[in-house]
Amino acid sequence: MHYPLTERLKRVPLAHTPTPLEPLPRLAEHLGGPAIYVKRDDATGLAFGGNKTRKLEFLMADALDQGADTVITVGGVQSNHVRQTVAAAAKLGLKAEAVLSDIVEGRDGEYFASGNVLVDHLMGAGVHVIEASVDAAGYMEDLADTVRGRGGVPYIVPMGGSNPVGALGYVRCAEELAAQDTDIGVTHVVHASGSAGTQAGLAGGLAALGSPLALVAIGVKPSNGAIRRDVEAIVPGVLDLLGFEGEVPTAHLHVNEDYSGPGYGLPTDGMVEAVTTVARLEGLLLDPVYTGKAMAGLFDLARTGKLDAKDTVVFVHTGGAPGLFAYPTLFQGS
Ligand SMILES: *Cc1c(COP(=O)(O)O)cnc(C)c1O
Repeated sequence: MHYPLTERLKRVPLAHTPTPLEPLPRLAEHLGGPAIYVKRDDATGLAFGGNKTRKLEFLMADALDQGADTVITVGGVQSNHVRQTVAAAAKLGLKAEAVLSDIVEGRDGEYFASGNVLVDHLMGAGVHVIEASVDAAGYMEDLADTVRGRGGVPYIVPMGGSNPVGALGYVRCAEELAAQDTDIGVTHVVHASGSAGTQAGLAGGLAALGSPLALVAIGVKPSNGAIRRDVEAIVPGVLDLLGFEGEVPTAHLHVNEDYSGPGYGLPTDGMVEAVTTVARLEGLLLDPVYTGKAMAGLFDLARTGKLDAKDTVVFVHTGGAPGLFAYPTLFQGS
């Protein structure tokens, strides 16, 4: 596949790409609205895969360029981003320090032992669980000082890998979507938005490609516009790296927060319905924190006619299924 925007940029191959674009006919029939395809970014291949692997291809290239021997990053206890960063570090022979902020209220048991955090331990990361009130950025700086103190070179990957360099991974995804959409007639791209790098990369990539596709970002937490502001903060850096001087359509910056529920990582009925329905109709595993909420959004937009039979939707499956094991009783009886 040809990547006109990103092929000149430094990247370490970590992901199985291009990821498949597959139809979901039984789900589309069930909803009775748009045709639905899934972009299988859950199948990027690195230690259960997910969207962060694309970002890490560019971030790790930068880390290696800087001579780093230790990667430090942060996320929630069940962070998919941290899991993929730890895996990338292992594959490249770097040490990893994982700062896990205990930000989701009311969790216990498996939440702290299974799913993503199990993998962090398995892959040899230094695991640091901190209270939500502790300043994670400061904690990472202290770890970086310790690394420098022993003569090492630390590289801090921001939350979600979401900065302009990481977002290039989603410019690459936009390039794949444009190339794969030769006879499908895609009109909308729906995805979950959290730390904003996926959206910033897709928005910048679609704009630089001159693509007419509409971007529908579903926020995974009630943020009062903070996710959108994060997207707006990352996009200019992405356009700079691409050398693209045009504009990103304002609609690409919008984040629909209607399906976010009470908070990050907190279940909603719509999410449980979406995860259960997609599992039973398509044999496809979504996740409780991101893609389940985004799919609940797609369900509602289809049911209310905002996406209809004239439309063809690509749902970007950004991964996260290991998180199912952190919510062991949520789907019983659903
Ligand atoms: C991180 C993540 C997202 C959100 O991507 P951002 O770039 O942080 O907005 C979506 N889905 C899954 C499964 C994730 O792990």
